[in-house]
Amino acid sequence: MDKKIAFFPGSFDPFTKGHEDIVLRALPLFDEVIVGIGHNANKARYFPIEKMIAWIEETFAGKNVRVIAYNQLTATVANEMGAKFLLRGLRNTTDFEYENSISQVNRHLVQGMETVFLITSPHLAPISSTIIRDLHRYGTNVNEFLPYSIEEK
Ligand code: ADP
Repeated sequence: MDKKIAFFPGSFDPFTKGHEDIVLRALPLFDEVIVGIGHNANKARYFPIEKMIAWIEETFAGKNVRVIAYNQLTATVANEMGAKFLLRGLRNTTDFEYENSISQVNRHLVQGMETVFLITSPHLAPISSTIIRDLHRYGTNVNEFLPYSIEEK
């Protein structure tokens, strides 16, 4: 039987406890979860890609989680990696509006590519990468929002 692989795409700048929760809850549903960091070499990230890969790997050490960076279409990469499912978290109706159309497009691009949505755990719903970047930029320790620890600014 084919291995059931889920591809979890995102910017993950940074990967947060909200993202970790989605991966941990997806693990019993799939044989493997691949965290895909969408990264365009021309677009600057706040947290370096190499560090983020290492931090996510450290977070899921010993679990069936792989981490890759990619700069192609998400559905294409997932398909190439043998993943038949995309994994996304839903925090609110704004997420829903966006995810609704993108999931239709992805299913059109790669036939049968289903997106599986997990509703955010309520205590993690307010965590967003954008807010964490802003806090960190102004010198706030953001470790309580992350599943690994980073050096302070
Ligand atoms: P993108 O740039 O693709 O939106 P993100 O890194 O912001 O990438 O998010 C990746 C995925 O994780 C999205 O499906 C998003 O809805 C989900 N996500 C973001 N923050 C949380 C959170 N606090 N709890 C659960 N899911 C989240």
